[in-house]
Amino acid sequence: MGTKNSPRTILSFRQAWATVADKLASRGNVTELGSELLPLHAVRGRVLAEDIAADRDYPPFNRATRDGYALRSADTARTPVILECVGEARAGAPYPGDLRDRRGCCVRIMTGAPVPDGADAVVMIEHTRAEGQSVEIQQPVPANHNIVLRGSEARAGTPVLRRGRRLGAGEIGLLASVGQARVRVSRQPVVAIIATGDEVVPVDRIPQWFQIRNSNAFVLAAAVQSAGGVPRVLDIAPDEERALEQSISEGLQGDLLVLSGGVSVGKYDLVERVLERFQAQFFFDRVAIRPGQPLVFGRVQDKFFFGLPGNPVSTFVTCTLFVRPAIGLLQGGDFEPPVFLRARLGRAMRHHSGLTMFMPARVENTGGEPVVNLVAWQGSGDLVGLAAANCFLVAYPEQEELAEGAWVDVMKISEISD
Ligand code: AMP
Ligand code: MG
Repeated sequence: MGTKNSPRTILSFRQAWATVADKLASRGNVTELGSELLPLHAVRGRVLAEDIAADRDYPPFNRATRDGYALRSADTARTPVILECVGEARAGAPYPGDLRDRRGCCVRIMTGAPVPDGADAVVMIEHTRAEGQSVEIQQPVPANHNIVLRGSEARAGTPVLRRGRRLGAGEIGLLASVGQARVRVSRQPVVAIIATGDEVVPVDRIPQWFQIRNSNAFVLAAAVQSAGGVPRVLDIAPDEERALEQSISEGLQGDLLVLSGGVSVGKYDLVERVLERFQAQFFFDRVAIRPGQPLVFGRVQDKFFFGLPGNPVSTFVTCTLFVRPAIGLLQGGDFEPPVFLRARLGRAMRHHSGLTMFMPARVENTGGEPVVNLVAWQGSGDLVGLAAANCFLVAYPEQEELAEGAWVDVMKISEISD
């Protein structure tokens, strides 16, 4: 930590992850987002801001998991045995009596129905033969067979979801089942996005031959949305200190500030210099990855910021690795960096960068195994190459030579863009 002039070491991406997780968890003077109460249909992707407990036992009754007969297991100690069917239990229409003192009796039961009192097992229909009310049970049925016992999933009053959990389809289903028609979730952070660069022009402008359209703002806005934030894309800031200062002031009205470009060591890379004028604290400004090495993370006033390198693939990688997990943390969520999976390398490769490489690649299922191959690309400016990829191959500094068939890490792109 320090100002631009104090020496800062280069971090591995795992160290940088730890720094982001640590700073965002402790927050310092950074304002809490607060929470809001939303109807259940509006909470997908949001982060739970309260603990949720089971309102009753789950399942609320002993539930049959098969179509068959509910019976007393003791009655099947010797088989075959003939039992008398005395009624029926359906989902939504339980058997009104009980089998407690009714030796030799059984109840026809359907999947999902409450098992009648006094019965302690369900035999599958396939293991029986019925003639009128007489049912032949062919094999002994152990106690609790084909029953999910009341309260075995959750007991009334015990927590089923903790605050900080991101809500997907499964969690929303659980919330519905415990009767949470409305749910308290963290407010969505507004993420201010500033693209910088004299060469960068809006997407709807015909660029001159030396100009570049502002693709990064769109990459970042999409990524912010998918991470549960609300993107606020500001005007492109030129490589000029006053204008950049103005733009950063405006960006600081959001909950998180993300800049692209202007963080390398070139004469016109002014982002850090201007942030210093705001008395910014820098937690790191280089991470040992390619693309994405000149990556800045810090706090200015009561907000966190990221300065991402401007090359489109660098922006994509650094946003995936750091900005998206940070948005989750801001909402009080768990730290959820992208998961790396393993695949076999299709063609041998080498790199001598001394950095962790994130290379656009395609992973396919080949002969029952995931096999990964690099796509053709021209380096970190190449969005055409990126669009042909469905993952990044992650190669670590110590993996200078990778043989064909070696198991390597991949970071899937679909998990990022969802
Ligand atoms: P910089 O990090 O500012 O040195 O930018 C590196 C390269 O990324 C530049 O040469 C630009 O061509 C490209 N670039 C910078 N900002 C953007 C942007 N917003 N959209 C697309 N490309 C960009
Ligand atoms: Mg630039």
